[in-house]
Amino acid sequence: KLAGRACYRMYSAVDSEQGRRHQQLSEALVVSLKTAPEEFSVVFQPQLDLMTGKIAGYEALLRWCHPEFGPVSPADFVPLAENRGQIHELTEHLIRCVLQDLPNVPDRSLPEGCRIAINISPRQINDSRLEALLAPFFDRLNRLGCQPELEITETHMMNLSPRSLSRLAGFRKRGVVVAIDDFGTGYSSLAYLHTLPVQVLKIDRQFTRRLGEKSRDSRIVSAILGIADALDMEVVAEGIENEAQLEKLRELRCMRGQGFYLGRPAAFGAWLSGD
Ligand code: C2E
Ligand code: MG
Ligand code: MG
Ligand code: MG
Repeated sequence: KLAGRACYRMYSAVDSEQGRRHQQLSEALVVSLKTAPEEFSVVFQPQLDLMTGKIAGYEALLRWCHPEFGPVSPADFVPLAENRGQIHELTEHLIRCVLQDLPNVPDRSLPEGCRIAINISPRQINDSRLEALLAPFFDRLNRLGCQPELEITETHMMNLSPRSLSRLAGFRKRGVVVAIDDFGTGYSSLAYLHTLPVQVLKIDRQFTRRLGEKSRDSRIVSAILGIADALDMEVVAEGIENEAQLEKLRELRCMRGQGFYLGRPAAFGAWLSGD
């Protein structure tokens, strides 16, 4: 593509260093998912109420550290798991790690009503095993007086089958929060959005990035806040990295935010002091 349109290059996966690493990683992942639970862990990134500055919830993000390849980004290994039909297994590890790290009984580390979000691959919503997979997660959060949240990327929200939509609606009826992740980068139809069992729009960080410098981006964020308001949805701004972005979001009356400036993803224990 870099060379321009209407031309081609010979490509051989075997010659490509990147292709080989990709293949090796993909095979290692399948093995690790089956035999090496200790290679997986989870970190939690806080979501703040931007008006009070208090923690309103956390997003759980999976980590994989392979003895040979070292830490691999979920941006790389999640698609690999999807391609290998291993996403169910991956989410099993995620849930196991989350349950291991969260307290068993209510304590001051998780305030009443606090949300814990996990990312769900769109394909999984078609999987009839999903309810059983998530049940222990829902049960634990219920016991803690917290709210479970499922994040699904926007790109796929619009392709869900009626069966998947009613599965999501079923979750929602049981008090599960459903969020559209990376909102603004997919192809949401506004006509369709209000029919989805969704409660939260997470504004993709590409719109947060130049907030405070580029007025066009603040108008886009403002428009998304308007849409959310009209649809009775909440908004979370992702990728807040500095004070200027935070100030701008407050000014626009965006109620929630997440980003390195507010808190980097970290082991749950790191948030325990909470003072
Ligand atoms: P996401 O759901 O949009 O998660 C947010 C990503 O943005 C995380 O990267 C987080 O570390 C990063 N981030 C947070 N704040 C900032 C910031 O201020 N600046 C910048 N530049 N980045 C920030 P991470 O952990 O590498 O995850 C990447 C993606 O991988 C996630 O994007 C999510 O789509 C996927 N993913 C992560 N964990 C899981 C999982 O357990 N299951 C599934 N299915 N997908 C997952
Ligand atoms: Mg997410
Ligand atoms: Mg996101
Ligand atoms: Mg993202």
